[in-house]
Amino acid sequence: MTDLSIVVPVYNEAVNLEELVRRTLTSAQSLDRPFELILVDDGSQDNSWAVMERLQEAHPGVIRLVGFNRNYGQHMAVLAGFERVRGRIVVTLDADLQNPPEEIPNLVQKIEEGYDVVAGWREDRKDIFLRTWPSWLVNRVASVVVGVAQNDYGCMLRAYTRDIVDQINQCGEASTYIPALANTFARRTAEIRVRHAGRQGGRSKYNLFRLFRLNFDLVTGYSLLPLQLVSFLGILIALAGVGFGLFLFVRRLIVGPEVEGVFTLFSILFVFIGLQILVLGLLGEYIGRIYHEVRRRPRYFIRRVKE
Ligand code: UDP
Ligand code: MG
Repeated sequence: MTDLSIVVPVYNEAVNLEELVRRTLTSAQSLDRPFELILVDDGSQDNSWAVMERLQEAHPGVIRLVGFNRNYGQHMAVLAGFERVRGRIVVTLDADLQNPPEEIPNLVQKIEEGYDVVAGWREDRKDIFLRTWPSWLVNRVASVVVGVAQNDYGCMLRAYTRDIVDQINQCGEASTYIPALANTFARRTAEIRVRHAGRQGGRSKYNLFRLFRLNFDLVTGYSLLPLQLVSFLGILIALAGVGFGLFLFVRRLIVGPEVEGVFTLFSILFVFIGLQILVLGLLGEYIGRIYHEVRRRPRYFIRRVKE
């Protein structure tokens, strides 16, 4: 019986795979229990798959390979791994060695204390400023939306019990954000501080637009709160408008007609037009999610599997 399953999404990580596998296997072996390492190739265009095959041959019986036909994103790759896990405890980590595999025993130990989800928290995060400060905001919002306060929803160095993974597997949502989904099912969650390194080789697969998309998934995928907040804001603005109208009416009685301040009016107008477009976008986001769900297309295609 496999006890521990480690799932790693791989997208153009050929340069990192060797060290990743070496360090991950050493770390997992130190736990002295049967384990498996599932590498999921998310449609890499480099020679990641060839390297994965070579590593699998070099370590018989521990590495399982799954390959997509094209790129579907990190979370889909992890889900494909989840659907195959045999272990009682499931750990996810990145392939680029930003999450040190040496943390795996700490995560496992915490699961063993009776938690369903153990999240890594990159307290000393080695990413650029442009990544870290929006993250702070996203973590606050996600904590409210998901209903479980955590400091680092973006960290994919995490451990789950098999129950949680089975529940995730039953969901089948078109797009998802795994840490948030897991937390909605968890009874007890814990956070442990983990080290974080700069990217070993290659470059980040997320550009600003992909990050924006991913974080939108995180916020609109788990709650209607954004819509409700916007409705509330609408009420406040309307009330302010009524108040302002009353003020202008009284002022006209006292001061008489005025036509100054046209440009001020323009700038105010622009703010409100911007807000309206934002709200339309937000509505569209939810409608888009519904569209993806009703279309019921498979979330990914698996091109090859090597057990
Ligand atoms: N990844 C993936 N598919 C993608 C993008 C990323 O499987 O479309 C993998 C990538 O190979 C790595 C992990 O997800 O193992 C995290 O990606 P990355 O390091 O680029 O993200 P960052 O650390 O910049 O947030
Ligand atoms: Mg990375």
